[in-house]
Amino acid sequence: KDEQKNDFIRNIIRDDVKAQKYPQIVTRFPPEPNGYLHLGHVKSICLNFGVAEEFGGVCNLRFDDTNPTAEKQDYIDNIKNDVEWLGFEWAGEAHHASGYFDQLYAWAVQLIEQGDAYVDLQSPEQIKENRGSFNEAGTASPQRDASVEENLKLFNDMKEGKFAEGKAVLRAKIDMASPNMNMRDPVIYRVMHQEHHQTGDKWCIYPMYDFAHPLSDALEGITHSLCTLEFEDHRPFYDWAVEKVGFDVPPHQYEFSRLNVDHTMTSKRKLKQLVDEHIVSGWDDPRMPTIAGMRRRGYTPEGLRDFCERVGVTKVDSVVDFRLLEFSIRQSLETTTARAMAVLKPLKVTITNFAEAVSSWESQKADSVNARWDDDAQTLWLTQPNHPNVDMGEREIPFTETLYIDQGDYEIEPPAGYKRLSPEKPEIRLRNTYVLAVTEHILDDAGNVVGLKATIDPATLGNNPEGRKVKGVIHWVSASQGVPATVRMYEQLFSVEDPSSVADVHQALNPDSLTELNAVVEPSLANAAAGTRFQFEREGYFIADTADHSRDKPVFNQIVSLRDSYKP
Ligand code: ATP
Ligand code: MG
Ligand code: MG
Repeated sequence: KDEQKNDFIRNIIRDDVKAQKYPQIVTRFPPEPNGYLHLGHVKSICLNFGVAEEFGGVCNLRFDDTNPTAEKQDYIDNIKNDVEWLGFEWAGEAHHASGYFDQLYAWAVQLIEQGDAYVDLQSPEQIKENRGSFNEAGTASPQRDASVEENLKLFNDMKEGKFAEGKAVLRAKIDMASPNMNMRDPVIYRVMHQEHHQTGDKWCIYPMYDFAHPLSDALEGITHSLCTLEFEDHRPFYDWAVEKVGFDVPPHQYEFSRLNVDHTMTSKRKLKQLVDEHIVSGWDDPRMPTIAGMRRRGYTPEGLRDFCERVGVTKVDSVVDFRLLEFSIRQSLETTTARAMAVLKPLKVTITNFAEAVSSWESQKADSVNARWDDDAQTLWLTQPNHPNVDMGEREIPFTETLYIDQGDYEIEPPAGYKRLSPEKPEIRLRNTYVLAVTEHILDDAGNVVGLKATIDPATLGNNPEGRKVKGVIHWVSASQGVPATVRMYEQLFSVEDPSSVADVHQALNPDSLTELNAVVEPSLANAAAGTRFQFEREGYFIADTADHSRDKPVFNQIVSLRDSYKP
C-alpha cells in the first residue's frame, strides 16, 4: 500500500538486500545522553528505525556515552521514552558505548602493538598547533616513533591514573600530511578524572567519540551506519579504525543532510541553555522543539512521522518550512480528535426570552434534535455527536439563559466583509441550537462591549428560520454550566528565521510565544483526561495539558490552528 520510498539510502540498502550482501539489515540510532531529543533526532529515528522495518531488519538504540561530563541517567530514560512514544522498538536491550569500554581498551592496546597508535605527551595547545593547516603539513610529535613497549607502558599509566587531564592522550598513527585533518593522527583516548553514569569510577580514560563510534557499530554488526553530513570527513577514519581492528564484515557509513526547520533550534546544547536559564518551563515546555515538548504540545507521533516522510532523505542541506510540520500535525488530527466548544475570549450574552422560548422546545424542535429539559437547572441538554464520524460517540451540551460567545464574534463597527454579529446584522445561528438575535449591547466606560442582550427564535431549534436567511454559525458555551479554563496560545518561540545564527539567544526570542487566556469550556472538556486532544470548534486543535490539567482547573494547550493557506 505504501509507495516505495526512493531516497538514496533506501536505494543503496535495496541493492544490498538484492545482492544478499548481509544476512540481515542492522541500523542503529546513537544519541549521546546529554540532553533531550529534538525534531532533528526525529528525522534520524524515522530513518534508522524506518529502514530497518521496511527491509526486515532491526535497529539498535545505542547511547554514545563517551563524554561523562555532560551525560546523565535522566537523559537516558527520557530518550527511551521518546523513541517509544514515536512508535519504534529497538532490538533487545538498549546498548551503551560504555558497555564496550573493556573491548575498546583492548583494541587500543592492539593498535599500539600493531604500531598504529602512540601516547602523546604534548600539551593540547601543542597538539593543535602541530596539526598544521589545510595547505601545510603537520609536525610529527616527538613521541610518534617511541617504541611499542614505551607506548604500552604510557597507555597503562594513563589508565592507572598517573596522568592529569591534558597531560597524555592516545593518538592513532596515520598521516600528519593528510589533506583530511581528521586523519592527522586523531586523538582516540583521553584522560578524564570523572565518574561515569554507567561505569562509575572504573575508568579515568575515555575513548573519543570518533574511535568508539565505528567500533561500536562493528561490534553490534551494524550494516548501514547512517549519520548526518558533517561526519562525511570522518568516514576515512571510521573505515581506518574498523579495518585496523580487523573486522571481516565492516559496517559502512552513509551521510544524509540534517533536518533544519525555520524558527526552530535543533541543538541539545542550545536548548539546554533555554532550560537552564528558565527561558522556558523545562525540556518539555510545549514551545520546545524537543520530542518531550512537542508531545506535551499535543503533536502526534503519526504527524511527526508523516512530516519526516514528506521531508525525505537527501544529501542537500536545506531549511524546511515550519508550516509543513504544522500541516502534517493538523492532518493527523482531523479525523481522530473529537470536537467540542470552548470560548477563548468570553463575552456574556443574556437571552431575555429564554424561559418562554424553551417552554415550547419539544413541540417546535426538528426531528434531528435530541435533547432533554432539566427543570432544576433550567437547562436544555442537547445531545451532540463528537465528530461527523459517529463512531466517536456523543455528549450532552447544556444550553442556558446566559451564554458566552467570543468577543471577536460581535463588532460595533465591523470591518468590510465581516460575517458575524454587529448592530446591522444582529442574527446568527448558535452551533447546534437556536438562531440568536442581539437586541442590545452593554458598554463599559471605555466604550468596550462587555455584554449582550439577545433573544432566540423558538421555531429555529434544528429548523431554518421562517421567511429569511440567517448567515453564519458561531460557537458558544453556557455561562452557568461552562467551566473556566486556562488556554495557552502559542506562537513560534523564536522571532528570527535562524535562531542558531544569533549569538545571544535572548535576542532571538519571540516575546509573544505564549499567551494565557481565561476561557470558558463546555463541561465535557473539563472532564476530559489529561492528554486528550480536541478540535475546539472554529478555534483549532487543543490538548488537555498532561502536567497541569484537572477537572477543577482545566488547562489546554493549543496544538495547531484549524487551517492555514500553506499547501505542501
Ligand atoms: P546535538 O548537537 O543536538 O547534540 P547531535 O548530532 O550531537 O545533536 P546526537 O545525540 O549525537 O546529537 O545525535 C544522534 C543522532 O541523531 C546522530 O546520528 C545525529 O546525526 C542525528 N541528528 C542529530 N541532529 C539531527 C538533525 N538536525 N537532523 C538529522 N539528524 C540529526
Ligand atoms: Mg553527537
Ligand atoms: Mg551534540
